[in-house]
Amino acid sequence: MKDRGGVRQHIRDYMDRLFYGVRGPRLGLVLLILVYTLCVFYTEKTSRSEGMVFVANQAIPLRSLTGAVSSFGNICVFLMVVFYKKPGAIVSLVSLFYQIPRILMGIFLAHNYTSTAGLVMNFVAIGIVILLYHNNKQIDRYQTRLRMQATTDMLTGLPNRFACNELLDTLIKQNTRFAVAVLNLNNFKRINNTMGVGTGNQVLAGIAHRWREFEKQKLSGTRDLITCQGGDEFALIVREYNSDEELINTITRYKELLEEKITIDGCDYYTTARIGYAEYPRDAKTAEALLACASTAMYESKNRGTDIMRYSVDANDAERSLKMERMIRDALEHGGIYYVLQPQFDITHRLSGFEALARMRDPDGNVVSPGDFIPVAEKLGLVDKIDRAVFRQSAEYFGKLIRETGTDSTLSVNISVRHLLKNDFLDEVRDILSTSGVPAGQLELEITESIMIDSVEKALQCINDIRDMGIKIAIDDFGTGYSSLSYLNNFPADMLKVDKSFIDRMNSNESSKKYVAAIISIGHVMNFTVISEGVEEPEQLDTLRSIGCDYIQGFLWGRPMSPENATSLVMESMKA
Ligand code: C2E
Ligand code: MG
Ligand code: MG
Repeated sequence: MKDRGGVRQHIRDYMDRLFYGVRGPRLGLVLLILVYTLCVFYTEKTSRSEGMVFVANQAIPLRSLTGAVSSFGNICVFLMVVFYKKPGAIVSLVSLFYQIPRILMGIFLAHNYTSTAGLVMNFVAIGIVILLYHNNKQIDRYQTRLRMQATTDMLTGLPNRFACNELLDTLIKQNTRFAVAVLNLNNFKRINNTMGVGTGNQVLAGIAHRWREFEKQKLSGTRDLITCQGGDEFALIVREYNSDEELINTITRYKELLEEKITIDGCDYYTTARIGYAEYPRDAKTAEALLACASTAMYESKNRGTDIMRYSVDANDAERSLKMERMIRDALEHGGIYYVLQPQFDITHRLSGFEALARMRDPDGNVVSPGDFIPVAEKLGLVDKIDRAVFRQSAEYFGKLIRETGTDSTLSVNISVRHLLKNDFLDEVRDILSTSGVPAGQLELEITESIMIDSVEKALQCINDIRDMGIKIAIDDFGTGYSSLSYLNNFPADMLKVDKSFIDRMNSNESSKKYVAAIISIGHVMNFTVISEGVEEPEQLDTLRSIGCDYIQGFLWGRPMSPENATSLVMESMKA
């Protein structure tokens, strides 16, 4: 027996394709056809009729309305083409052509020559329908091309991040179960750095081509879409799987395709990837959150040493971070974010400035340290708000301090890259400088090295603009972010802050000491002044002195303190 369901599905698919891109509901087309048929029927009946119709006691011959009704019919035909594209054009042309033999018969058999005008109008209408349809098609083609460009990653030809989010949103609206896996190539930068970006691009395009072919042939047994999220990161959306095993099978197939050898210009390249995945609706309910969960799992896969990792949350962790989130939002709203100042000295123990460090008060009034709330704020996208609060408050205090004491010391504030990359960051800095009265030369912005490496290109312009204003830049936590010498050489900074971890190890063996000495000399060669963070012991200070460090920050000479204590310290140092 014939599979009726299959035939029905075929018809439905065909109708879907036929009606793709139409702007009105299908019922509208039926109504337009009906109105058009009525108009034709009316003109047929009245063109030779002697009947009258009375409007406001005025007798109007029915025949005189024929032209108006016929024009109305033609308008229906044009509307069909405009709104219903191909189906509309087919119906219109069939109806218009159908009229021709009917009118011709009227002219030649019944000698009704008044219909000649109708015949001409019919041909004109056919011409307009063809023109409209052609025009519509061109606009459609143009729109399709634009849409393709907006939703395709140019390098790999895969759907891009925008297309991925669109599909995720649609699936979420349909409330269907699906999974999204994030695939990040391991050490891909190495291919780019050693063989050139051109080869790197060919490798990415080659992998994408393989995946597309696999996807087209529907070999996985599930319904998949692989998309490019930018650079060497991809997202795979998997639907219509019946078990976890089927889902993992599909992800594994994509992983295996990626790991197959790629030959470019006679050289073989091998790539591997870290993969994390999350499921809707189990793990998250929005596209953004799902991708974030899959990315978290992807990073976690590295720690756990597995290739494919499913997203899972430690219930305690989730609860803790939710509590912290509430606390941060509350503190931001009610002024619970404040700052303390840690003094910095030159190597002769002369006060040179202060670093403003954020603190937060919890609802019980206990102090929370930034090590606990800054990472959560970074994840939530709130860190720029914290930076801003600390920056504004500390600059206001410092401006007043300068006016009252005439100190020439510097205020350093920590700036997250997220904050730095905000469009209005420069305006904010200008505004803070003018309202606080701190001269640009007495302000320093600290940017963490590890984060800078990923976003350096975007941030460079902004950093140059800041330096043009006369503000100094310090590279914070130096040594923790694997920066290369060429990166350092081109980086527009004034100060290098050697991370505490190096200072801690410095005196444990000779090689650690040599290491810090090397950092300091390289910093000097590149025209940076060098400050060491976290100096706690006199031995560390002696060593730093002997290897030429310029400035010192640490508990040995000063812990983070309240603004009042900072003012007293400035007064004392000025007296001395
Ligand atoms: P950082 O900018 O490297 O700040 C130095 C940190 O080392 C401070 O910790 C300081 O109290 C601590 N420290 C200084 N000397 C010593 C020492 O001799 N011994 C020990 N054990 N610690 C010392 P804190 O205040 O907990 O800040 C931690 C990190 O939080 C900062 O590291 C910075 O990365 C971040 N942070 C602080 N305030 C802000 C802020 O306003 N915005 C942003 N984005 N990050 C901030
Ligand atoms: Mg700092
Ligand atoms: Mg630091």
